[in-house]
Amino acid sequence: MLLADGRRGALAISDSGHVINLIQHDGDRRSAIDSGCEVHDFEGRLLLPALAEAHAHLDKSLTAELAPNPTGDLRGAIEAWIEAERAGRFDHQSMVERVARSLEMLLTSGTTVVRSHINVGGAIGIKYLLAAQEAAARFRQAMDIEFVALTHMPMSGPGSEVNLTALDDAVHAGVDLVGGCPHLEPDPHACIDHVLGLARRHGKAVDLHVDETLDPRVLTLSDLAERCRNVQVKVTASHCVSLGMLDRDQRRAVIDRVATAGVSVVALPQTNLFLQGRDHPVATPRGLTAVHDLVAAGVTVAAGADNAQDPFNLVGRCDPLETAALMVMAGHLLPDDAFAMVSANVRRLAGRGAAGTEPGQVADLIAINATSVRQVIAEAPADRIVLRGGRVVARTVAHTDLNID
Ligand SMILES: [Zn+2]
Repeated sequence: MLLADGRRGALAISDSGHVINLIQHDGDRRSAIDSGCEVHDFEGRLLLPALAEAHAHLDKSLTAELAPNPTGDLRGAIEAWIEAERAGRFDHQSMVERVARSLEMLLTSGTTVVRSHINVGGAIGIKYLLAAQEAAARFRQAMDIEFVALTHMPMSGPGSEVNLTALDDAVHAGVDLVGGCPHLEPDPHACIDHVLGLARRHGKAVDLHVDETLDPRVLTLSDLAERCRNVQVKVTASHCVSLGMLDRDQRRAVIDRVATAGVSVVALPQTNLFLQGRDHPVATPRGLTAVHDLVAAGVTVAAGADNAQDPFNLVGRCDPLETAALMVMAGHLLPDDAFAMVSANVRRLAGRGAAGTEPGQVADLIAINATSVRQVIAEAPADRIVLRGGRVVARTVAHTDLNID
């Protein structure tokens, strides 16, 4: 087994699923086994912290054929989704199976922590949430899965009652986080205050879709940071695309507020590259938030896949290494930093203990056929062994026969 810093050996893991130490001598291996530890060496594979998905939409995943998007843009996606919903193509059992299939793909990729937004409100109420929870229960021993109630609009003003009632129902059904899209609301402030108040009363965290637009005049991130400053609620702002369109002086004041308020940010290169910028045919912007400036200000920044093979993003393979590669190419990050955004930083914003190979860390790990983090991101080898709390929960063995003579 190889560690990212070049050390080789085997890993001793305690009953509680934490790393004890790296074993580099046969004598130490024997005494570790004698004292009841699990010892793993993974036959020379590179051992890294397990991957984590910061932002999925599991209720929508794998619906590209059920809800075909004829134009491939946002308008086409919304129409396709509404049409498929009206036609009753998202019945309970098929949604349970699709969510389970997406979770299986994430797990075999090496993902042990997943945060997924699930639509709540309107005519569907909490039906999708119940289906997602049923699927997630199958993976209880293998993954930490948390759901965000992505509440339908409006959450403020006329017509909001049905959606706010559904959000209350979701909270009582055990949803983990409260969500919504304040920048699309008739009254963004009222939406933010309602979400923060509800979360505080019920001890929930918050994850909002924020400023998913290239229009720099839309900047609810600043208001969000201001309003949650003295509220004891853990807040994540996902997307924050318009922040990336501001010049660096304009950004600074907003980012200072975000850092002071302790708000975490999730960048979502896949769906943003797919959906944003279609009305900018020349020098098309990438639709990413101001990743480097946020990191420099000390903000926790993670990266997620967002949609996967649905009308909002026709591709995506439920593998955080795909997101990491996009953060290298489109976000101009170095490979180690991109990897942290799909592993350690996700755990941090989700309030979970650090995973890795150092003594005392949670043994959520991935053993993969590569010799560096850069190669892992570049090649995304299919051959992977996944551990959660020191227990192997998925193993994919890839085999290739070449016949080139
Ligand atoms: Zn999203």
